Amino acid sequence: MLTVSEALSAVMATVQHGPVVEISLTDALGQVLAESVVSDVDSPPFDKALMDGYALRATDVGGRFELEVIEEVTAGRLPTRTVGPGQATRIMTGAPIPAGADAVVPVEDTDFQSNDETSLYGRVTIRKSIKCVSGQFILKQGAAVQRGAQVMAAGRVLRAQEIAALAELGYARVRVVRRPRIAILATGDELVPVSEIPGPGQIRNSNEPMLAAQVQQAGAEAVCLGVAKDERTVLGERIRTGLKSDFLLLSGGVSAGKLDLVPSELAAAGVQQVFHKIQMKPGKPLWFGMLPPAEGCSPCYVFGLPGNPVSSMVCCELFVRAAIRQWSGLEPVIPAPRTARLGHSILVSNNRPTYHPARFDWAAEGPIVSIVDWIGSSDLCATVDANCMVCFPAGDHEWKAGEMLEIILW
Ligand code: AMP
Ligand code: MG
Repeated sequence: MLTVSEALSAVMATVQHGPVVEISLTDALGQVLAESVVSDVDSPPFDKALMDGYALRATDVGGRFELEVIEEVTAGRLPTRTVGPGQATRIMTGAPIPAGADAVVPVEDTDFQSNDETSLYGRVTIRKSIKCVSGQFILKQGAAVQRGAQVMAAGRVLRAQEIAALAELGYARVRVVRRPRIAILATGDELVPVSEIPGPGQIRNSNEPMLAAQVQQAGAEAVCLGVAKDERTVLGERIRTGLKSDFLLLSGGVSAGKLDLVPSELAAAGVQQVFHKIQMKPGKPLWFGMLPPAEGCSPCYVFGLPGNPVSSMVCCELFVRAAIRQWSGLEPVIPAPRTARLGHSILVSNNRPTYHPARFDWAAEGPIVSIVDWIGSSDLCATVDANCMVCFPAGDHEWKAGEMLEIILW
């Protein structure tokens, strides 16, 4: 049986990078960048004023306090006159600095007289207490980004700030990794759709909406295929439909029960097993494999997730999420777990590493984690109160309040 980290390595070694598509920047939120973004302009593209005020020669301030205003430049306009000694140009934030000027004095530090008939724009007096240094309130051309500089590398999720930077650099369209399409197929004779009232011995198919939500949270597109009964013909048929997607997630039917038909039906459909069963709790029966690419068809990566809802959820969070990140080229594929201080003592007795639903909060002494009441892998409602899982290594151990443990946020 593989360890969790061996299984993650196997997933990463199997899943190939997804295809790249070009989309409009307006559709790019949450997508993964697939190109290196290089600036073809300086930012800012010209020396620009950072204040509304007067562009002038810094050496004039302190000596000559009254200056002739020779021009007014607002943002979007170009200066036409060079600022000489004893002169200033009235300037607005974002406007280009005129030649000759090397500083801006904010309007609040000046007094303006407009009734001076010798000057078209009047005269301005710089207040005596004001100091002025060369370069003040000017953002030099290329100070933020120089033409030719790489602004971001491939492999990051596009958030509002990346989208703004792409917009500034003129990327009206951007190359991203296509979101993977993930088919979800629940298996089990006992399952009824969520909208139905379960009859005797039946339960609702909660795994389908759960897995759909999880893969969407991880940046994929969910394709729900409903429920396949534990019967070879229907199961085989639905598996073949699912294999047309980039990924197929099955839930249930991967343990050792009489009707656990999933591994054999996957094999019959040509899916090659990479691993079956891992040293973890919950989630031990996890199955992973791949339908190799054939002519005209891309590969399909297949996870047989355990039917128990929390097992399915934990396996999806650990392994399916890693597979989606690998497909998308997201770096790092496995984000480093956080650590938090245990908020209470607890005696843990496990023969396998255990992922326990827990609550992570900020306390005065730093991040703190407390496990939630949980009766095992079918206890879905416990996960509603949880916002992380805490990882207990295998073995019998009495954990003391204050000890540090790894957690994975949910
Ligand atoms: P299995 O892995 O098929 O042996 O199922 C293990 C447990 O999970 C059983 O109690 C099933 O009834 C339950 N289960 C299986 N599939 C689902 C599902 N889609 N939604 C909720 N519970 C499920
Ligand atoms: Mg079953």
